[in-house]
Amino acid sequence: MIPALTPTYNRASLAFERGEGAWLYTTDGRRFLDFAAGIATCSIGHAHPHMVSELTGQIGRVMHVSNLFQIPQAIRLAERLVANSFADSVFFCNSGAEANEGMVKFARRAQALSGHPERTDIICMDGAFHGRTLAMLSATGNPKYLEGFGTPVPGFVHVPFNDIEALKAAITPQTAAIMLEPIQGESGIKVASPDYLKAVRALCDETGVLLALDEVQCGVGRTGKLFSHEWAGITPDVMSAAKGLGGGFPIGAVLATEAVAKNMTAGTHGATFGGNPLACTAANAVLDVLLAPGFLEQVQARAALLDSLLDDLVQNAPAVFAERRGLGLLIGLRCVPPVGTVQAAAQEADLLCVTAGENVLRLVPPLTISEDECREAAARLKKAVQILTDTQNTKTLEPSL
Ligand SMILES: *Cc1c(COP(=O)(O)O)cnc(C)c1O
Repeated sequence: MIPALTPTYNRASLAFERGEGAWLYTTDGRRFLDFAAGIATCSIGHAHPHMVSELTGQIGRVMHVSNLFQIPQAIRLAERLVANSFADSVFFCNSGAEANEGMVKFARRAQALSGHPERTDIICMDGAFHGRTLAMLSATGNPKYLEGFGTPVPGFVHVPFNDIEALKAAITPQTAAIMLEPIQGESGIKVASPDYLKAVRALCDETGVLLALDEVQCGVGRTGKLFSHEWAGITPDVMSAAKGLGGGFPIGAVLATEAVAKNMTAGTHGATFGGNPLACTAANAVLDVLLAPGFLEQVQARAALLDSLLDDLVQNAPAVFAERRGLGLLIGLRCVPPVGTVQAAAQEADLLCVTAGENVLRLVPPLTISEDECREAAARLKKAVQILTDTQNTKTLEPSL
C-alpha cells in the first residue's frame, strides 16, 4: 500500500527531535554532526537563539498579511540585500524553483520591453539543476527528471559547462539570457572558473544577452562571500537565491538590476506567500548573523581549515576518496566506492552528509560551524573510512537519501 506521504524521496530511517547549532538529536537520543544542514539550507545552524527569539516574537504578532499591504520586514530585507549586492530591487517568493521561474520571467520581459520580444531562449548548462517545476525541469535538462512529464517546456537550450566557445556558438538572435550556477551543486559541486565567468559577462555585454545566475545553493554566505559570483569580480543582471536565505524557513528571492527589474510592474508577477512577515523575519535574522563584521571572513577561515583536513583525508584514504572540490563551505568529495555506501558509513559514524552527482559526497555544514566541529567532522569521516574498510562487503551498508 502506498504510504500516506507520497514516496518521492528515498529517506534515511532517522527522525530528529531537536537540533542545536551543527548538531541534530534523534527521537531515540542519538546525536549527529549535521554536515547536510537541510541541504545547504540551515545556514546559521539549528535553533540559533537569535532566530528563535526573532521568529517566536514575529509569530506572536503577525505571520501573514498578503502583498495587498506594506510589509516592513520585506522592505527591510530587500534594502539590506540591495545594499550588500549588485541588485537594485528584490522580489520575494518561497523556493528555489520559484525564484528561478521568476528570474526567467524577469529576463524575458526585460528583453521584450527593450524592443526584443523575439529574445526568449534561455541558454543553460549541461549538469544544471534549477528545480522541479515544469519549466525548471526543462532548464535542468536532465532526461531522468523529465521522464513521464510530457513535452519539455520549449525555450531552454544546453551547452557544456565551463566552455566559453560552446556558449558563443549557441547564442542566436532569439537568446534572452544565459542561466547558470556559479557552482553546480546537485550534479557534483563543479565550480565555474573565474575566467569563464568573466568571459560570460563580457559575452553578455557584447550581445545584449542577460546574465542570470542561479545562486540558490552557492549564495547567501555559503562560499565565504555573500554571493559566490563576487569571487570572480563580476555581477549578473538577475540572480536567484533561496536555500540558505531563510536559515531553514522557506523563502526565495529574485535579485535584479534596475534595468531588468523596472519592467516588473504591478500585476506582472506575484506569490501569495512571497515575502511574508514571518519568512522575511527569518531571512533578516540570517542576515543579522552573516553581515556582522568578520563573519564571512570566519566562514572563509573555517573553509580553509576543512580543506586542509579533507586534503589529508583524501591523501590517506585513496581507496575511498578520489578528490576534494568546491568553494568555501560547499564541499564535494568524489568517492571511489558508490557514494551511497560512503554516505551510509558516515551516518554510521554519526555524521550527516548529502550525496551529489558524479559520485560526490556533499558537505554543506551550517556557516556557524566551529573549528572543533570541523575537526570532529574530519575525525568522523576517518571513522567512516574505517567502517568501509572493516565492512569488506560494502553492500551490507544501506545507501540512504
Ligand atoms: C535546490 C536548488 C534549486 C531548487 O530549489 P527548491 O527550493 O527545491 O525549489 C534550484 N537551483 C539550485 C542551484 C539548487 O541547488
